[in-house]
Amino acid sequence: MSESFDIRKWFQKPDELLVISGPCSVETREQLMDTADGLSKIERVKVLRGGIWKPRTRPDVFEGVGEVGLQWMKEAKEKFGFLTMTEVAVPEHVELALRYDIDILWLGARTVVNPFSVQELADCLKGCDVPVFVKNPIAPDVKLWLGAIERLNGAGLKYIGAIHRGFSSAEETPYRNAPVWKIPIELKRLRPDIPMITDVSHICGCRELLQVTAQKALDFGTKGFMIESHCKPEQALTDANQQITPESLKNALNKLVIKKINTDKDDVVLKNLRKEIDDIDDELLNLIAKRMNVSEKIGDFKRKHDLTVLQMDRWKSVLEANINKGVNLGLNGDSVKEIFEIIHKDSIDRQM
Ligand code: PEP
Ligand code: MN
Repeated sequence: MSESFDIRKWFQKPDELLVISGPCSVETREQLMDTADGLSKIERVKVLRGGIWKPRTRPDVFEGVGEVGLQWMKEAKEKFGFLTMTEVAVPEHVELALRYDIDILWLGARTVVNPFSVQELADCLKGCDVPVFVKNPIAPDVKLWLGAIERLNGAGLKYIGAIHRGFSSAEETPYRNAPVWKIPIELKRLRPDIPMITDVSHICGCRELLQVTAQKALDFGTKGFMIESHCKPEQALTDANQQITPESLKNALNKLVIKKINTDKDDVVLKNLRKEIDDIDDELLNLIAKRMNVSEKIGDFKRKHDLTVLQMDRWKSVLEANINKGVNLGLNGDSVKEIFEIIHKDSIDRQM
């Protein structure tokens, strides 16, 4: 941790891994100071996070300490030199956070689902120079995430980042919020100018999955992490299962293998392999186009002979056979299924 960290420069060139840590909720002055003290011993941690107003799923539970916590955040910032960061959900939160010199704001997953709330926040942030991170909405909907970023763009904000914190899912997964990596990848494709970091704590929901998930996020090119920490995680008033001590955080960060996007050394090897991939992709596209042509001929035949376009038994057996063949070739059965479902849908559309 160092006092000279310049978050605006980081936004312009996010080369250095940004590590944000601190408690899920600011609970007491002592808890915040103890946690911040531990974090101040980790060089990589530049930003102290702390939830002041907590969006809880059910009422009548701890909902954050409110304004007094901002005073403690300010004290921690002055004592340890961190930048401070908190979640804002309504304009009043923005006004208070800025009054107490909070350096960075974030919009939570529950706020980002609601365009009215995001627009209200964008309107009240108009003319501010404060950096704002936008968490993904609870649902795996890239447009909703993008829309929130665009509303902040519209308000003239210059420093906007994205936080991938996983998505709610009706299916059982080992995660609290399944990562669904294709969504942050798609946001990065659409908005390469928006640096994306990963909130592994809310993805995992438990301590055990943090290390592998953080490594995976790095492998997908994350520009930083938000990881919840607490001086006594098991006594935390919110998210006790997923918070870790500053010491565990230090160990976890040390174990991460930080990879580069490009290398000069094996440039030729990589270039040749990429050329090979490009050639294979060409072949794949040609084959898919060829398959569609045959499919259209089948469509003509069905039309002539008054046959239904969708023939469920045939489709079931094609899908099953291809999944088996794919698995025998060492491919992931679920992915093979998805690929063939997309191809089949296109085939059917052409025959309609
Ligand atoms: C949080 O970071 O404490 C939080 C409430 O996160 P999310 O909006 O991702 O649920
Ligand atoms: Mn939390």
